[in-house]
Amino acid sequence: MEIAVDRDLCASTGNCVLIAPEVFHFEGDELVYLRSPGEAYREQVEDAVRSCPMQAISLTLTPPE
Ligand code: SF4
Repeated sequence: MEIAVDRDLCASTGNCVLIAPEVFHFEGDELVYLRSPGEAYREQVEDAVRSCPMQAISLTLTPPE
């Protein structure tokens, strides 16, 4: 799966960081994240997508190879 955060929409609320701290974190004021986290993080990432008040996170599922 591939994650993309629209930085123009992100309001730095930190919801995604709380829900999926191994995927999203802040470096200073900047949100950084794994672009292609493993499937093990799928549930956390889907929760983070739902929790984002700005709907800034998009998730693209990639078929298994
Ligand atoms: S939950 Fe959404 S608005 Fe909040 S920091 Fe994450 S991407 Fe940004």
